[in-house]
Amino acid sequence: MAEVLVYVDHVDGAVRKPTLELLTLARRIGEPVAVHLGAGVDTAAPVLAEHGAVKVLTADAPEFADYLVAPKVDALQAAYDAVSPAAVLLPSSAEGKEIGARLAVRIGSGIITDAVDVEAGDEGPVATQSVFAASYTTKSRITKGTPVITVKPNSAAPEAAPAAGAVEQLAVTVADASKGTKIVSRTPRESTGRPELTEAAIVVSGGRGVNGAENFPVIEALADSLGAAVGASRAAVDAGWYPHTNQVGQTGKSVSPQLYIAAGISGAIQHRAGMQTSKTIVAINKDAEAPIFDLVDYGVVGDLFDVVPALTDEVKSRKG
Ligand code: FAD
Repeated sequence: MAEVLVYVDHVDGAVRKPTLELLTLARRIGEPVAVHLGAGVDTAAPVLAEHGAVKVLTADAPEFADYLVAPKVDALQAAYDAVSPAAVLLPSSAEGKEIGARLAVRIGSGIITDAVDVEAGDEGPVATQSVFAASYTTKSRITKGTPVITVKPNSAAPEAAPAAGAVEQLAVTVADASKGTKIVSRTPRESTGRPELTEAAIVVSGGRGVNGAENFPVIEALADSLGAAVGASRAAVDAGWYPHTNQVGQTGKSVSPQLYIAAGISGAIQHRAGMQTSKTIVAINKDAEAPIFDLVDYGVVGDLFDVVPALTDEVKSRKG
């Protein structure tokens, strides 16, 4: 059976959920071979094996931490050369997309980014994308080289599928050309205790209707009752009510949770571009004509300052 390379997104060996989703999708195409770069392979390997990795190729080098993505592309290319895979899957994070694009150029392949599904096809993997503010769903196949596909978080449920997951060291030479951009400092973001926006199963977002930074705790309270991440429209971010790291949309983050709740957001096309692939969309808006209602599974016409706290109380009471 053909092997499929899966690029592992992890923090010191703690494998992030989108990678487990990629392993599930990779098994539809062939046998997943995980590529783990950096520290923590002892922690990561059992998790990767549990989710179907037949092999874990690993390498660690100071350059992975010291420079931007290019040294990791050298390593992924070494894995590609070692395996000759049927496809390469990466998470649709900023890093995943950059690494995937650089690898595709180097190996002369086509690339599909932001896929929301991947299936086996007669002539190679077929990737689904949601485009033009979810007006169309496209299915595409790469016709040149080995398909490189980046997949959005929450595109598949991670499935346990125990496999051997034998760890093998990759020999990697980091080229001088890959040391062009050095990282000079890192500042960890203060933790909110909430899930990462792009990986969260539930996202609660607030827009201009929240009417001030001082009112965002209303959104946060609902998010916390649901174990959700908090998002914001650009109007709310531009007004300085919420950080840009939480912006959802064309010039913010792209999210695809199981449940997206938009409160006080009109549903501009640039906002939709970042949340249209959410599985279930709920909007709370006092204007029954707001465009967001064209997109939703459930809509509540009402004042968010009445509806959101009532929803929060209801969720809390059901949790006991
Ligand atoms: P508005 O459009 O002003 O809508 C506010 C909504 O809140 C209204 O529908 C109103 O009825 C409702 N409301 C008001 N008070 C209440 C209340 N008490 N209860 C319930 N509902 C209430 N936008 C993004 O979000 N993300 C992006 O990444 C992004 N990128 C952009 C890139 C470009 C190049 C451009 C040109 C624009 C971009 N925008 C983006 C901006 C986008 O066009 C909209 O301006 C923005 O999304 C509007 O935000 P909003 O829905 O919060 O505000």
